[in-house]
Amino acid sequence: MPKRIGLLGGTFDPIHIGHLRVAEEALEALKLDSFVFIPAAAPPHKPDRRIESFEDRWRMLDLAVGDHPHFELSDIERRLPGKSYTVVTLRELHKHYPPGTELFFLVGLDAFWELDTWYRFKELFGLASIVVVRRPGYPPDDLIRFLRRAVSPLFSLDTDGDVFRHPSLYPVYCLRNTVLEISSTRIRKLVAEGRSIRYLVPHEIMRYITRKNLYRIETASKPDNERERKTHAERGA
Ligand code: ATP
Ligand code: MG
Repeated sequence: MPKRIGLLGGTFDPIHIGHLRVAEEALEALKLDSFVFIPAAAPPHKPDRRIESFEDRWRMLDLAVGDHPHFELSDIERRLPGKSYTVVTLRELHKHYPPGTELFFLVGLDAFWELDTWYRFKELFGLASIVVVRRPGYPPDDLIRFLRRAVSPLFSLDTDGDVFRHPSLYPVYCLRNTVLEISSTRIRKLVAEGRSIRYLVPHEIMRYITRKNLYRIETASKPDNERERKTHAERGA
């Protein structure tokens, strides 16, 4: 049987409960065989703030994934040269997995609305099922309008309302995940203010951040979630 593999790419600076819970829910809802976290080595969308080293972000992911039987990490974006473009990563992953493997690439609604700015974004829909996940402040309205305008007018809404189908591209799913008001931006801010991050990140991550003295100095904060949200609303998207 071909395998079904979930993917979550991100900066993971640091990984938090929001990432882990959405992966767990996708695993269950989409009947995935495994779920892979892919930290970006050189994120194309976050050039203007300091990002912790790949090693520290990787180490925290490793601690967070722990001994979960279906969670894995991939350092593929570390091994690829240049910026971490998702379309390049997905092409590489297809070379790595046996033919017929189905990829499910999760993307939060905050990032989804900007998908049409990603490098060769239309190709993503021919490489993997995109799984849109909910985040606070980003209602999942009008996904179909976005898909038809930005990707292809041939997308149609399935009867159950959470799947968008296309005659030649992979389906796009809208996951009914638990919406958790947690972001790495908020974690970094809390640490910089000397406040608690307990229960927002796994315990081992909290200890790692303390031990390595990460995020103690607040860095210039774009993209701040508040700002992202405002920009989104301003665009009327
Ligand atoms: P930052 O605040 O630095 O942008 P982040 O919390 O958004 O960090 P990323 O590493 O940017 O984390 O996100 C990786 C992916 O995980 C993105 O697709 C993002 O939308 C998704 N994601 C992040 N936090 C959550 C959450 N709480 N619930 C669902 N998806 C999330
Ligand atoms: Mg983000």
